[in-house]
Amino acid sequence: MRQIFVAGNWKMNGSLEANQQLINGIKAGRGINAEMAICPPAIYIPQIADLLTGSDISWGGQDVCEQVSGAYTGQISAAMLLEMKCKYVIVGHSERRTLNGESDELVAEKYSTALAAGLKPILCIGELLEERESGDTEAVVARQLNAVLDKVGIEGIGAGVIAYEPVWAIGTGKTASPQQAQDVHAFIRQILTEKDGNVAEKVQILYGGSVKPDNAAELFAMTDIDGGLIGGASLDADSFLGICQAG
Ligand code: PEP
Repeated sequence: MRQIFVAGNWKMNGSLEANQQLINGIKAGRGINAEMAICPPAIYIPQIADLLTGSDISWGGQDVCEQVSGAYTGQISAAMLLEMKCKYVIVGHSERRTLNGESDELVAEKYSTALAAGLKPILCIGELLEERESGDTEAVVARQLNAVLDKVGIEGIGAGVIAYEPVWAIGTGKTASPQQAQDVHAFIRQILTEKDGNVAEKVQILYGGSVKPDNAAELFAMTDIDGGLIGGASLDADSFLGICQAG
């Protein structure tokens, strides 16, 4: 039985004061069985680490450099995230693939570097609207997943988390229907099953894309959906808690 996992991706939002209020609100939540994590902008990770230490909420980065250390201005290494007691790091978010030109190969390298350092990568995969409309959803998702599988093997995938995020549903208010999402999640798990059935059964596959308190329960009730990666709704304590309570 896989545990429901809900991770908040704050993207480039927040301030010292707003973060404190948001974390205080989230820590006041009750009646939650889901595993929870917060991924704030990197500069606020030490603040969030201080605020969440002693709670059962984890934290993580939104990105990591594929290199271990050196002359990579502006980048943050896996070791630095670990030093800040991050458990997770998001890799391959569609905003980084689209706005920063991250290729499947680069995402696979980031995943591998994060894993080697001891972080649990959250691998984001998902199709663009035109790819869905042209019937290429499975081909795109398989290509993105296989790039990482080829690099780290099925054991490496088993040590992380997958987030299926249809790009057309991110920040748009358009959610995939529970069945649309379930179909892709089952397809992803099938790819993993062909490599190793035990790993495939255990790995958490999150859904991301305009998840809100009022649609979370029906998404999380689907067989292969094990929680959510939450953008906009993670910036409001009541919304984030409402989603976590749906788990
Ligand atoms: C995301 O950024 O990963 C995301 C799912 O965003 P939103 O929930 O705002 O669609």
